[in-house]
Amino acid sequence: MCQKQQIEHLAREATKLGATSSAIISSKEIQVKDNLAALCNGEYICPNYGLAASCPPYVEGPVEFRKWQAQSKYSIIVKIELPASVMFSNERKGVMQLLHQITAAVEKKAIETGFKNSRAFAGGSCKELFCEDQEKCCVLTENKPCRHIEFARPSMSGFGIDVTELMKSSGWSALKADKSNSSDKNAASWVAGLIMLA
Ligand code: SF4
Repeated sequence: MCQKQQIEHLAREATKLGATSSAIISSKEIQVKDNLAALCNGEYICPNYGLAASCPPYVEGPVEFRKWQAQSKYSIIVKIELPASVMFSNERKGVMQLLHQITAAVEKKAIETGFKNSRAFAGGSCKELFCEDQEKCCVLTENKPCRHIEFARPSMSGFGIDVTELMKSSGWSALKADKSNSSDKNAASWVAGLIMLA
């Protein structure tokens, strides 16, 4: 299999695992913005800030991300579409867990394929998604390995990745319903993840 076929195969793997769509983009197209990363601890402080090893201030942030990006030629973007009524319900957690599972599985497959320095990014806090019943993140407090290393991936937010631009680079609409139209059963939303191949 040539490299192009290998990457296409990895992108297909994401949809087999449950993503609605996947796209291959040049890694150069990923836009990383310091001001977006700063939002996690800005005027509005994210309730998950500082709770897990995969969220700021414990992740490497935009500076390191740009170094990884420089080593990567292609990236796979995955999207899960869901109705706004699900996005703003208790079912959201299951969808976000699936997003982490898909990106982590594609990352694993990419590494096995030979893209040994590939890295996956998802959305949401892994503390909330996988360790809600635990008082603390054991990586931070006990210096132990992550309890859910096979699934939990860092959120794109902490690296300042512009997800709206990522959607556009993938050829998808970035429009999504917000909480105000979550009762409209036709309103659509999405969540996205990224696997940077290297
Ligand atoms: S141990 Fe839990 S909270 Fe900590 S990084 Fe892993 S999944 Fe996230």
